[in-house]
Amino acid sequence: MIDLGTLAGLHRYGHSLAAYCPRCDQWRELPLAELVAAGHGSRRLPFTVRCRDCGKVGQLQVRPPVPTRGPGGWMEIARQRASYKAMAVCLSKFLAEPLSRPGCLR
Ligand SMILES: [Zn+2]
Repeated sequence: MIDLGTLAGLHRYGHSLAAYCPRCDQWRELPLAELVAAGHGSRRLPFTVRCRDCGKVGQLQVRPPVPTRGPGGWMEIARQRASYKAMAVCLSKFLAEPLSRPGCLR
């Protein structure tokens, strides 16, 4: 069972997590390795992120690994593609109230 709902899971399977600030029109990649090393690996998505520059709530986006270089094979990635999309929608939809829909990341 691959659990992509935690920071450790995303990091382990080669995903990256980015946050977008609509006010600054900037994307930033969250330092997954550092966060996991700092003990935040069990933290579950979605959670609220704020822009370091302006303080506005950002939008999280899970980015799957590049298929030809990721730790998973083509089949595994193809199988999960649908859930990536569902997760991205889910994150942006519920980011404003991050803990109100705990079942969101099934
Ligand atoms: Zn900003």
